[in-house]
Amino acid sequence: MRNKNVTWRALKMYHGFHPAYFPIKGLAILLSNFSPYFNLWMSAEIVTALYQGRSKEEVYLLAAATLLVNLFVRIVEAFMGWAAKNSLEILENNQELAFYNKTLSLDYDKLEDPKIRQLRRKIVENSWINSYGVVHMRLQIEGLMADLVKLVFSLILMAEMVSLMMRTSFQWLGLLLLALMFGAAALAIISDNVGNRKISAQWDKSGELMLWENQFSAGTQLQGMDNRIYRQQLLLNKLEKQLNDEHLRIFSAVCKKSFLYSVPNVVLSRLSGLFACLIVCLYCIIGAFPIGSIIKYVGYLEGLMNSIKGIFLKIGGLKINERFLETWLEYFDIKNDMYQGSLAVEKRSDGQYEILFRNVSFRYAGSDEDALKHINLSLRVGERLAVVGMNGSGKTTFIKLLCRLYDPTEGEVILNDFNVRKYDYRQYLELFSVVFQDYNLLSVPLGNNVASAAQWDQERAERLLRQAGFGERYEKMPKGLETPLYKDFDEDGVNVSGGEAQKIALARALYRDAPFIILDEPTAALDPIAEAEIYARFDEIVGDRTAIYISHRLSSCRFCDRIAVFDGGRIVQMGTHEELLADEGGRYYELWQAQAQYYA
Ligand code: ADP
Repeated sequence: MRNKNVTWRALKMYHGFHPAYFPIKGLAILLSNFSPYFNLWMSAEIVTALYQGRSKEEVYLLAAATLLVNLFVRIVEAFMGWAAKNSLEILENNQELAFYNKTLSLDYDKLEDPKIRQLRRKIVENSWINSYGVVHMRLQIEGLMADLVKLVFSLILMAEMVSLMMRTSFQWLGLLLLALMFGAAALAIISDNVGNRKISAQWDKSGELMLWENQFSAGTQLQGMDNRIYRQQLLLNKLEKQLNDEHLRIFSAVCKKSFLYSVPNVVLSRLSGLFACLIVCLYCIIGAFPIGSIIKYVGYLEGLMNSIKGIFLKIGGLKINERFLETWLEYFDIKNDMYQGSLAVEKRSDGQYEILFRNVSFRYAGSDEDALKHINLSLRVGERLAVVGMNGSGKTTFIKLLCRLYDPTEGEVILNDFNVRKYDYRQYLELFSVVFQDYNLLSVPLGNNVASAAQWDQERAERLLRQAGFGERYEKMPKGLETPLYKDFDEDGVNVSGGEAQKIALARALYRDAPFIILDEPTAALDPIAEAEIYARFDEIVGDRTAIYISHRLSSCRFCDRIAVFDGGRIVQMGTHEELLADEGGRYYELWQAQAQYYA
């Protein structure tokens, strides 16, 4: 069941992003709608004055007053228009920032959750392609404000007309014509609403398709190298053409429907206008209205009808938009379970943090098999633990649970006697420096990347970059730490190779200076010399931190105190390199032999 207050809730939240916007816009709307009514009124006065043969001075005075008021209103209106545009920019920026921050602060498992990804995709699709959601709501509310202003102006000015009509002996005819005018307008409103509802459903389909097309073209650009090597143009052209044809088909259907639904609306609206003209002409002929009033009253009646029609149209538009707003609100309403803990993580300079995995199992959402099965392991302070195993054996998942990107499905992870869920989430995360296998560098200056912050300590960042093996390349960076990485936002940006990027990621991990350092395949992209260099200085790099190290190159695990061998989500062996190698029936021996034969 749809929540009745959806629009109200969304409007309150949207308004909160920049509370000055709607009052400023409201004032701008009031001013821009004042002039047409004022001008109608003054024109009628001038025509009547001329018709009645009043003095030239009087007519000039009326014309001058009209001009002056218009001039003043236009100047203020232009200023308010500028202020409204400016504050709309702030409102939209704040709204986008809030959405972006929501995504950044989501629990990691939620970020990956297909349902939540779908929700986010829908919001982007609705707002970019169909302008549904908060943008549509804003436009409807602004339209509604304009229509309400017009309605109030028309009603105030029409009171005079109705009182003149009621003074004649043709009261009933006037009332009948008014009823016919309103009746035709009401039918026009109904047909318009029905049409819009039907058409909006069609636009949904077209929006989905366009997003598909965008993703498709973005994807094909990214795979540019493969496209060329495998000569995929023909295949891709065919797929693109299929999408285009389908899009065209939906688009034509929407245009056809729009035309068909607009016919009754146009006919009925004109009919309503015709009744308005009839009323005014009739009462002018019998002398109930002064001659100049023809323009005035026809204008007011037209304005009245349009404003009523507009109000219903906007209300209909808001109704159609409700489901899009629901999606938007649903996204902001997602609760972050990871942030429930409140226990402070003790700050210890001696690094005395012990982490224990107690019978931990974990299954990814939507998967039918556990990625980790009954893991029992304790991390001793200051030790170097290597984690090895085949692809898909659960090594990265283990790291993700350790860093609390996920919580176990079964069992518990314990830090210094307490379940990690009890700790303040941010403080817990601060215990870890990690170089993930699929780490990300940002397209911002090198210094920002290393410090992961707006400011950096020059000496420290440079020292750690050198320690991570980036020293020689650093000397060639044109602006040192100020050098932007990649060219996404800056033409002077520097593209770094995979190996160089990995070194920067390592320097970033070291800069954080957390008691635990986790390196997931930290040398996968490095050349053999750089790799050897890192191993030679591993102790210096890691210092007295507790280090967890994942690698496929077993020779690089020899310097670790313990090696945990993962297989099928379980730890099947644990020991030093020598101990594990002594077990010739074990998994480690098998993996070692498989690699060693190439070096023999
Ligand atoms: P490793 O790091 O040892 O290569 P992973 O921990 O990445 O292994 O993966 C362990 C298992 O979990 C694999 O079967 C993999 O397919 C599965 N897996 C990894 N990530 C996800 C995910 N996000 N959703 C579902 N299954 C996943």
